[in-house]
Amino acid sequence: MSQLTVGKDVLSYCTKCKLNLGHIIVAMKDATHIAKVKCNTCGSLHSFKDPSLSSKQNKTRTKASGITPSKVISVSDLWMEKMSNTKKKSTPYSMDLKFNQGDVIDHVKFGPGIVEKVVDDKIEVIFRHEIKTLVHNK
Ligand SMILES: [Zn+2]
Repeated sequence: MSQLTVGKDVLSYCTKCKLNLGHIIVAMKDATHIAKVKCNTCGSLHSFKDPSLSSKQNKTRTKASGITPSKVISVSDLWMEKMSNTKKKSTPYSMDLKFNQGDVIDHVKFGPGIVEKVVDDKIEVIFRHEIKTLVHNK
């Protein structure tokens, strides 16, 4: 049998997260009974809840909540998507030219990009690695 002592990790049902999660023992009732635990996930302090006792009500909730990182779309993903969805031919970028939303441009420094937004004399262009604001129609 593993020894239960203060500071050790133990699986307990968390009353706040409503899941069986890793907890740290903060107080013992006696040598074999845990009194209080601290949730590693939400940090709340509560009395020890045997995970096997609450496993029934947790059957429907198998996924741990709040830990999955939110999906971030990178600029290159966006660029790839935009470029594959356009049939336009690229135009070499020049500040004298006037561009419209959705136009594909070819920039000497940044490479191919797609015009995302037009604001007066500025265009917002999605390039492979970054989004740039350029001037046009000068
Ligand atoms: Zn918790």
